[in-house]
Amino acid sequence: MKIKYSEQGFTLLEVMIVIAVLGILSTIAYPSYTNIVARSQEKVCIANLSQIERGYSAYLVLNNKEHNLIFFELYLQEEYGNRKICPNNGEISYEKGKVYCNLHSMLDDDGPDNGEEDDDEDNGGVPFI
Ligand SMILES: [Zn+2]
Repeated sequence: MKIKYSEQGFTLLEVMIVIAVLGILSTIAYPSYTNIVARSQEKVCIANLSQIERGYSAYLVLNNKEHNLIFFELYLQEEYGNRKICPNNGEISYEKGKVYCNLHSMLDDDGPDNGEEDDDEDNGGVPFI
């Protein structure tokens, strides 16, 4: 049995075009990938902060204690141990009944904001006029 091999293959120009298209696609995909990862990490952090806020409030009420830094650190150590609260290792703090991350909580005049509001721009919704 004789196997026939085709003499034709890809030309240099065809290979170069494929490589160029792959390069263009990767330059488009990489920034959006890094943006998606950063946004995911921010959402994880904000969700963790919200959970800590509720848990710590309940902890204070159940133990009939006032907030201070030692109780807050003890609570975090008991509940989370060595687990990461912020994926980017942000510093977690508690002020006026809210838990903040120095990397992901936005600051405004009223104090830090966890970014749970003003999501209209992100959802592709109609902006407020
Ligand atoms: Zn964070």
